[in-house]
Amino acid sequence: MKKRISHINLGDIPQKRDDYGRLVCLNCGKLLKGRQEKYCGWQCSGDWLCKHSHSFKRRRMIRNIGKCAKCGTTENKLSFILDHIKPIALGGEEFEDDNLQLLCKECNAIKTRQDFKDIALARRKEKMEAKGQKTVGNFFPTEDIIGI
Ligand SMILES: [Zn+2]
Ligand SMILES: [Zn+2]
Repeated sequence: MKKRISHINLGDIPQKRDDYGRLVCLNCGKLLKGRQEKYCGWQCSGDWLCKHSHSFKRRRMIRNIGKCAKCGTTENKLSFILDHIKPIALGGEEFEDDNLQLLCKECNAIKTRQDFKDIALARRKEKMEAKGQKTVGNFFPTEDIIGI
């Protein structure tokens, strides 16, 4: 099973240099000028952070999209949750736009319950297969597994 990458401390990210030892932009690789330290501009720093920080990505999506992907509400958007459509534990990509959506609290609660079921099922299947038992698709009624 894939694990979520541990939280990174953005201040600890080292600067990037090219083959000649010159500082280049972490995001696009362009040579940095003047007093730039890690990025060539705001756009690149934002883009890079979006690929490495869920909280940053969430804030950007709230600003740019601002509605729940399931029910479409735009109310209370500051409480929206950044959801991985395919859970990371099941091999979903952490920072791919295709695998990310904003959900309101209510829709997220429903999605999280379903994710738990799917993950439990996958774990159980993995265990059985490790023991050499054959499994076929979703062979268990999911309620039996974790009882939610
Ligand atoms: Zn750049
Ligand atoms: Zn919703």
